[in-house]
Amino acid sequence: MMRRKNSNKHFTRMGTRKKVHAFVRVRPTDDFAHEMIRYGDDNKTINIHLKRDTQRGVVNNQQTDWSFRLDGVLHDASQDLVYETVAKDVVSQALNGYNGTIMCYGQTGAGKTYTMTGATENYKHRGILPRALQQVFRMIEERPTHAITVRVSYLEIYNESLFDLLSTLPYVGPSVTPMTIVENPQGVFVKGLSVHLTSQEEDAFSLLFEGETNRIIASHTMNKNSSRSHSIFTIYVEAHSRTLSDEKYITSKINLVDLAGSERLGKSGSEGRVLKEATYINKSLSFLEQAIIALGDQKRDHIPFRQCKLTHALKDSLGGNCNMVLVTNIYGEATQLEETLSSLRFASRMKLVTTEPAINEKYDAERMVKNLEKELALLKQELAIHDSLANRTHVNYDPMDEIQIAEINSQVRRYLAGTLDEIDVINLRQIQEVFNQFRVVLSQQEQEVESSLRRKYTLIDKNDFATISAVQKRLASIQAGLVDADGHLVGEPDGQGFGFGVASLTTKAGKKVKSKKTVKEQPRLSTPPSKSVAFEDFKNERGSEINRIFKENKSILNERRKRASETTQRINAIKKEIDITKEALHFQKSLREKQGEYENKGLMIIDEEEFQLILKLKDLKKQYRTEYQDLRDLRAEIQYCQHLVEQCRHRLLTEFDVWYNESFFIPEDVQAALKPGSSIRPGMVPVSRIVSLGEDDQDKFSQLQQMMLPEGPDSISFYNAKVKTEQKHNYLKTTMGLQQARRK
Ligand code: ADP
Ligand code: MG
Repeated sequence: MMRRKNSNKHFTRMGTRKKVHAFVRVRPTDDFAHEMIRYGDDNKTINIHLKRDTQRGVVNNQQTDWSFRLDGVLHDASQDLVYETVAKDVVSQALNGYNGTIMCYGQTGAGKTYTMTGATENYKHRGILPRALQQVFRMIEERPTHAITVRVSYLEIYNESLFDLLSTLPYVGPSVTPMTIVENPQGVFVKGLSVHLTSQEEDAFSLLFEGETNRIIASHTMNKNSSRSHSIFTIYVEAHSRTLSDEKYITSKINLVDLAGSERLGKSGSEGRVLKEATYINKSLSFLEQAIIALGDQKRDHIPFRQCKLTHALKDSLGGNCNMVLVTNIYGEATQLEETLSSLRFASRMKLVTTEPAINEKYDAERMVKNLEKELALLKQELAIHDSLANRTHVNYDPMDEIQIAEINSQVRRYLAGTLDEIDVINLRQIQEVFNQFRVVLSQQEQEVESSLRRKYTLIDKNDFATISAVQKRLASIQAGLVDADGHLVGEPDGQGFGFGVASLTTKAGKKVKSKKTVKEQPRLSTPPSKSVAFEDFKNERGSEINRIFKENKSILNERRKRASETTQRINAIKKEIDITKEALHFQKSLREKQGEYENKGLMIIDEEEFQLILKLKDLKKQYRTEYQDLRDLRAEIQYCQHLVEQCRHRLLTEFDVWYNESFFIPEDVQAALKPGSSIRPGMVPVSRIVSLGEDDQDKFSQLQQMMLPEGPDSISFYNAKVKTEQKHNYLKTTMGLQQARRK
């Protein structure tokens, strides 16, 4: 099944393991070694028989017979048949997202290039390559539901150097176009290799021909034998569904590989360039074999891809998750039998390798986001409908704001303190926030414990008058009313607003005084307390009345809910009882019918038991109706109460916010107004008005503010900064003034 992963790319395993398909193609000859090469009737087996008494002096005990079973023997096969047999499926699978690799292996002159590229001057004798391009474009035409792009590249590997056969630059070699093989999460690619977008068959053909020409030119100018190089023509396919909701798209590669001649050149004492070529070829072909065999071994987790350029460049297209076909080109002549045997051995080893083809599926991130947005909108609508059907009003699913979070924090605190029995579940977001606030409260408590421990060690000796008086000076203004009976300064236990606290050495722990009354009128602190702490204060002070109503309504609501739940339970019980009674009645009835007591001319004769059941049923139904009516009334009441509670909560939180800002943040114009010489005197702008400004008022207010700034609006931030600094220093003064202003 398809899985969605975080990564952009993944393979979809189809779970079917496939073998590498290995075919043999015999080059036509008039001198075919009929006595040595025989094919099985299934046209898949090729048997080799070596004569014992050949001049080569084969030793008697040496093996003389071999039998190779492959996927097909192509003898006297047309190019057309070869394509049908070898390539057609691989190419059509590529359009479904499977990588495919077709390789021609064999001795030089055995027909690899003829098979892969074919005769470029003769259409009929064209090879796999042009036919694959044709098939790809034909399939694209047949698939109008998809937008499919085709790209091609043509790479040559010669003596472990990479050459771009489609480079637009004159072909001069690797120093000008230094290419490297690079791996990234998307796969492996050759950096610097030109990849050409081709929108039609013709373009693709031109590129192929250009590549062939370049290859020939290069073999001349660089004096290199093209049979000593590997060439890889790659067709890259990318298919996007034209259905916009389809997030997936597929990519695939078809690698058409014409390998270097497999003949063992090294053994006949080659020198210099030839030896070097031979070494490279032998190595890369044996590395290729090693890599493919390792890929087929499910127990192997390391595949030696990087040993040579050939396997490295083909890393994501060999064995593993792709369709692989090997064509082994052999000569039919007896003189070549040794190399033929070696080629056939290679083929039969490859045939044993299994692969697990998989689709290269990717996700279009942009389409995914769009689809998710759509889905989200739909789900929100669905939720709204669901809520209205379930009579759930006022349920908000938007992210919570600061006030709502503060409310939850307060609930959590009260819950922990034992003053709140339970926290009502509203929705998932709220539950998550409740847990979140548990964590917040916990960490705050930890911090408090820590800081109180620290405070313990910064005690000041009560006889150290100098220090005390200095501290007193600093605190005198803000701590008016916070002095305990002994006249000692006591640290605020909740201490959020205080940088430090001072306790008398002689004062025993626990003797700290915190009078609610004094707290009530105390000026606010220069560092405002956290909202959750302030909220508790607020509920004891200005918000006490609203809070009381809020609590009352909530307890009514809870009581009604409880009653509704009880009534529902009762109704269910009655319903059950009704069902049981009905069944019993039914049983009695059927019993009576069986006994034939029904005959007396329309007169119903029923026994006592049945009569009692009927009465009971009647009674139950009456009860049911009453309870049901009750439940309906209760539900209406609950809904109303819920509304009230919501209103109260809202009021409480809004008022709190006003109070909080008023108490801990002094609006700048009030600051200004309170300064000596200011044109606005205390009391001119009531705080409550400033804090609850409407849009229009806010506008007027900022105009007023700007008028008061002689340098114009640009200076606002400057002044704001200045005011904030002064705010710290003038805190007490302004707060006191403010309170006076409020009283007026
Ligand atoms: P390789 O690439 O393996 O070195 P080539 O494909 O160049 O070999 O083939 C060598 C020669 O044999 C070429 O002239 C080619 O046209 C010819 N040839 C190979 N296979 C066939 C075939 N099946 N039918 C006709 N000619 C062939
Ligand atoms: Mg060739």
